[in-house]
Amino acid sequence: MPENLHTVMPTTEATRVIANGRLWTDAPRPGVASGDVAALPIAVAEQHGRIVAVAPLAELLRQYPHAELDDVDGRLVTPGFIDCHTHIVHAGNRAAEFARRLAGESYQSIARSGGGILSTVRATRAASLQQLIDAALPRVDALLAEGVTTLEIKSGYGLDLETEQRMLQAARAIGKLRPLAVATTYLGAHTVPPEHAGDAAAYIERLCTELIPAVAASGLADAFDAYCETVAFTVPQVLRVFQAAQAHGLPVKLHADQLSNMHGALLAAQQHALSADHLEYTDEAGVNALAAAGSVAVLLPGAYYFLRETQRPPIAALRRAGVPMAVATDCNPGTSPLTSILTAMNLAAVEFGLSVGECLAGVTRHAAQALGLQTSIGTIAAGKWCDLAIWNVAQPAELVHNLGARPLHRRYWHGQPGLYSQPGS
Ligand SMILES: [Zn+2]
Repeated sequence: MPENLHTVMPTTEATRVIANGRLWTDAPRPGVASGDVAALPIAVAEQHGRIVAVAPLAELLRQYPHAELDDVDGRLVTPGFIDCHTHIVHAGNRAAEFARRLAGESYQSIARSGGGILSTVRATRAASLQQLIDAALPRVDALLAEGVTTLEIKSGYGLDLETEQRMLQAARAIGKLRPLAVATTYLGAHTVPPEHAGDAAAYIERLCTELIPAVAASGLADAFDAYCETVAFTVPQVLRVFQAAQAHGLPVKLHADQLSNMHGALLAAQQHALSADHLEYTDEAGVNALAAAGSVAVLLPGAYYFLRETQRPPIAALRRAGVPMAVATDCNPGTSPLTSILTAMNLAAVEFGLSVGECLAGVTRHAAQALGLQTSIGTIAAGKWCDLAIWNVAQPAELVHNLGARPLHRRYWHGQPGLYSQPGS
């Protein structure tokens, strides 16, 4: 028993003890190896939404004799899941384009007839704030039903100030309408907007002098993101917008090396990005730079699968170099129409070869780090938010193995229990 428990007076503060859970622990504890389920009947004490102690039940009951008990009956308990890369706020959908591609039409032909990302830009520009919220909520609810307690949401389908801010307002509103935390990212450099077609340089200039300062001043964005790719922006262009974003206090993230090796990972690392995302074509130098910078590699197997890619991210090199790997849905209408974090974990295991422990760390501890939130969420530890997912499974591997299962028993978000159900239902 820890020394201090003998000396601390029992508290009368409103406390809840979540008892008889089997905790999946990513960080090693005394007697419990990393990645194992704690064999002891470990319990979690919560006050004001925060975890105040993680210890054997008898010890917690001594310290918190008046605590309200929640007996989870031997169920598996993990940190609440974190989907750290989504484009979940958008209007319209691209299902019709998908059907045309299945019928044999080329992507180029669809793009020429107004399809592709610019069709989502048109639909999103035409949507009101309420329409954006209403369109996103069913997708958000699907993630909540799989234990997600923190969600990153990017803008990037407006590309003008008004629509980008409306997307970010919708993201902030979702965080108030649902029991989860939302981290917002201004994806200003997603693609060249139609009004600047053929002149990416002019748009970059506008981003640096007008759009980034205005979005930063609005307080609507927690981070800035860009897409470094042959079909998007070059390394020097991304460098310019990153410097502008950082000058306005926004940490940066990068869509890097998805379709070709643009040395995006290297650029992200040099700019101390929170994360570099996709990374299918990242080379050894990029991997080593990420390791040295402490940037997270965010793996997006949904896009890899949906685009029928064959070039996998350099998982073995990332593992060897000790780069933290996160896993996210990349929920977006064009290349990853995925609203299941559990499916993203299965795809990361099957397509990329991640272990069960890596998949779980990828949607908890490492995903928290990809958002710069590792001190407040991502593990079950005293001082962090009491964000938990409680599962009807016997072992962690079931969360990664089963496709289409609905194994969530209950969530805790900031200490509030509940199996999320839609208002009115
Ligand atoms: Zn993305």
